[in-house]
Order: sequence, then structure tokens, then C-alpha cells
Amino acid sequence: MILSKQNLAPLLQSMAGRREVFVPAEVNGVTKFAQYDENVDPRFDLINTTMPPKDLLFPQTQRMYGFRVNDEGNYEILEYDESRERAVVGIRPCDMRSIVCLDQVFLTKGFVDEFYANAREKLLTVCIGCTQASETCFCESMGTDPQAAPNADIMLQDCGETYNVVAQTEKGEAEVALWGDLIEDGRAEPTACDVTLRVSMDGVVDALENMYNHPIWDDLSVKCLNCGTCTYVCPTCHCFDISQDLKMKEGVRFRCWDSCMFSEYTAMAGGHNPRPTKKERVRNRFMHKLNFFERRYGMSLCVGCGRCVEKCPVALDITRLIDDVGSLAAAEFAEIGGANA
Ligand code: SF4
Ligand code: SF4
Repeated sequence: MILSKQNLAPLLQSMAGRREVFVPAEVNGVTKFAQYDENVDPRFDLINTTMPPKDLLFPQTQRMYGFRVNDEGNYEILEYDESRERAVVGIRPCDMRSIVCLDQVFLTKGFVDEFYANAREKLLTVCIGCTQASETCFCESMGTDPQAAPNADIMLQDCGETYNVVAQTEKGEAEVALWGDLIEDGRAEPTACDVTLRVSMDGVVDALENMYNHPIWDDLSVKCLNCGTCTYVCPTCHCFDISQDLKMKEGVRFRCWDSCMFSEYTAMAGGHNPRPTKKERVRNRFMHKLNFFERRYGMSLCVGCGRCVEKCPVALDITRLIDDVGSLAAAEFAEIGGANA
């Protein structure tokens, strides 16, 4: 099926009548996924947004439950389910892959996060394939096809004036069945996407296994500010802190995004901190992205969206680390005669 780009606005209006719809947009100078209404100008021309879409599944601040002391002096628990039927339209393939990572964390290995599970079940994902990559996009090297997202409910392949519409799940088929005469039969040739930034992950996961005490972490961490920007813009970072707000006899317990780049993140009540300096924190971030997650879930926790590369104020670049680790691994392999084996 084909969707003309001229029909995008009526399609969004129609979808917004059935559920909350989120689109890439600029809000107060920041690009993010914003709820669509007549005042929001969708920016499907953006390669990707500064803020990732993870907020739709894992809000930056989320009420978990409330409590109060009732008139009889007993505690009451107040439950909140703030998940709603939603759609995200215009999410990019790298961000769809980040949802695969988040699904692993919040839904597998015997741990189901009910807040994430509810939001995930109610989210319809409509992915638009990329036709251009920014100079910091390196998705292909991390296993993402910039024109495909197998886990999206609906894939829109960008063909210039039109999109090919491909429903990939039952939820997607049910939605496309409602698009009526906004779509028509046919198929066009998708516009190619050239991703020029490349890294090689060959040997990187294994090499990192033996690099816990390598001097590379001292060199790398010197310029890090521990500002946490990389973790907030990363679509796969998922750490949170739980806190509470008390007012007289009522309170609410909430969680909000945290960052492993902050010194308080691992601070313990007794005063001990297992990651006391920047070196340990920087090492943990990169090891988690490129080694620990791979070992636990069989995939990298970096999808190559390039946001941290673009936004780090001191240009700390994960692609350079991957290159450096790959070179060290290759040199060691050659030294032990592996290259000639
Ligand atoms: S580590 Fe950087 S490039 Fe990788 S997914 Fe996170 S923000 Fe994107
Ligand atoms: S990293 Fe790849 S999938 Fe993501 S926006 Fe860039 S080109 Fe598209």
C-alpha cells in the first residue's frame, strides 16, 4: 500500500481521534516527540530528535503509587495507571531498536516492570525509514538497517513523494485497516540511505572483557564532566531513582531518570562508593553499552543513534572508543600470532 505525503496531516488527525499521537517536533528549541494537535508542526524532516522517544515508555518522572493516612489512622495505598492508548509516528529505526533493548530490561529474565509493560502494550509504533543519515549516525555498524525496523507495528518506507506502508504486526494491521482511502494499492522504490560513519565491532566485546584495568579508561575519563548529558539523550539508558514527596498525611512515591555518570549514583548509606572517580563511572558506562549488556542479553546497548556523540560538551565519542578498542584487540591478536594462524 502507498501513502501520499500529502495525506499525512489528515492521517494524523484521524489517528488522534482514536489515541494520543506523538510526532517529532520542536518544542521550546528542543526536538523531541510531542503530542500531536493543531498547534504542533510535525518535523518528519528531522533525522532524529535530540530527546529520544523512551519517555513514552519510561517517563522522565513517573508516579508509582501514593499513600495516605485515612480518618481511622490507617495507611491507604493509592494506585495509579497513567498509561494510555498511544501511537508514535515518525520514530526512526535506531530508536525502534532501542525499544528492543528496553523490552529486554523491563520485560525479561523474570522481571516484569508493570509500568513499562502497560505503556508498551498500549503503544502503537509507526516507524519511518531514513533517507539520510547525520554525520554522527552509525546505526549500520551496530546492526540496525536505517530503512527497516522489524519490531515496529507499521513501517513507512520513504519513497520521496510517498511512503510504502507495511503493517508488521496484528496491531499494525488493525490500524492500517482504518486508514481507508488515505492509502492506495501499489509500491514504490524506497530512497536509499547512505550512512557514512562506520565502526567495526569485530573483537570489541571480547577485548573489553580483559580491559577492566586498562589505562584507556584513565585517558578517556580525563575530559568527562560527568554532566550526564550522554545518558539523558541516550534512547537505551534506563537507570532510575525512586524518591517520595510527602505532604501532611499524604505522599507519592515516584521514580525519575538517574545517570551512572553522577557520583551519587553508587553512593551507599555507609559512605562507601564503589565508583568514586570519573574513571570508574566512564568505564562503567562504556562497558555496559558494549560488553555487560551483550553478555546478559546478547545484543549491544548502543544502537548507533549518535546522540551522545553529537551532544557531549567535551566530544567524548563512543565511536572513537570502539575504534581504539578494536585496534588494541587487533594488535594483541597479531602479537600472539593469530593473524598468521
Ligand atoms: S550510547 Fe550514544 S550512540 Fe549509542 S545508543 Fe546511546 S546515545 Fe546513541
Ligand atoms: S542512526 Fe540510522 S536509523 Fe537512526 S536516525 Fe541516523 S540513519 Fe536513521
